[in-house]
Amino acid sequence: MKVEFYRHGLGAEDAAEIGKVVTSAFLTTGRVSHAVESQLCEYFDVPHAVLVNSWTNGAFALLMAMGVGPGDEVIVPAMTFIASANIVELLGATTVLVDVDPATLLIKPDAMAAAVTPRTRAVIPVHLYGQMVDIAALRIALDGVSAPGQRIRIIEDCAHCFEGRLDGVRPGKYSDAAVFSFYATKNVTCGEGGAVILRDAGLHALLRETRTHGMSAMAINRFAGGKYNHWDMERLGTKANLPDLLAALLPRQIATIDERLPQRHAVAERYRRALAGNIFRLPKVTANAVHAEHLFTVGIPGGKRDEAIAALNAAEIGVTVNYRALPEMTYYRRKYPQVAAACPHAVAWGQETLSLPLYPELPRDQQDYVIETLLETVAPIVKAGLGG
Ligand SMILES: *Cc1c(COP(=O)(O)O)cnc(C)c1O
Repeated sequence: MKVEFYRHGLGAEDAAEIGKVVTSAFLTTGRVSHAVESQLCEYFDVPHAVLVNSWTNGAFALLMAMGVGPGDEVIVPAMTFIASANIVELLGATTVLVDVDPATLLIKPDAMAAAVTPRTRAVIPVHLYGQMVDIAALRIALDGVSAPGQRIRIIEDCAHCFEGRLDGVRPGKYSDAAVFSFYATKNVTCGEGGAVILRDAGLHALLRETRTHGMSAMAINRFAGGKYNHWDMERLGTKANLPDLLAALLPRQIATIDERLPQRHAVAERYRRALAGNIFRLPKVTANAVHAEHLFTVGIPGGKRDEAIAALNAAEIGVTVNYRALPEMTYYRRKYPQVAAACPHAVAWGQETLSLPLYPELPRDQQDYVIETLLETVAPIVKAGLGG
């Protein structure tokens, strides 16, 4: 039985929305994007939202707006996707990689605080796999170690966590900004895209500029009032705005995301129940939290992860690895050679983990087949290795 790792839930209705943009005169960032930004403000209960063309470009524009550059340090967990740290490197700042908690695989507020120096400008906690880091506790921990006058910005990496909550609170409440990805496999997707939500009006204005070359007016405003309006450029910016062509895919998904979450939970809970108590290592589910269930990851002990992937692939089951730890990437290993030894939990998990197929409409017989293959084919491989 063939089991795909992921299938998007887009259909004819969504195609029709793109069609409406194509037949209008305006393709890039305009009316549709602004409507989605309002929708995001309402969903997350924040005053500002900015659509961007990827998490990476949005976070890059955000760090630019914050003035992060050479000489500055930004703290990032060692277990995440490379983009979380690459944006720091792209701006010439220094990435400070910190180990994660071995049970949850999330960064701990105290561990981030312990890595603070007078040069620390920002931290990027990652809500890995869909579980939230405690941002309120992180704020307190950072305030406790900041030098007088040092204001450390918190940027939440919400690429895995659109619909997650902790103690009833959604992303964006206690941080300076939260950044989302609408990449092809994310829980909300438009192929490529993302969003930044934030509370500070000044930072919001700066981000709008760094998102569009540093220009003081976007195309839609340059022609406002039926006449041409001059624009200026005061500071350097990048190009990170999302066109209406892609934004048109978002309104329906955002409106229905909370209805689809129970389906994700049902699949993940079946996996959890079936695999618990066996040889598999499962990330701990945190208390008082709503898990966004973006990725279902399993640890395969005994150095058998790659054999397990081969067995699952031979059974036509799509799997991925999220992620080999950042200190194991050649670029980061060369640049920060001492870091791997300081991040043993992230490195070990990166050598053990694989991700199972998970999307709301994953058919039940395919879920059963994945579970059966793990229990009857993969578990014996691991047990043989551990025994011998
Ligand atoms: C996907 C992802 C990103 C990057 O998102 P893009 O929209 O592809 O730039 C960043 N962080 C994490 C944790 C991700 O999974």
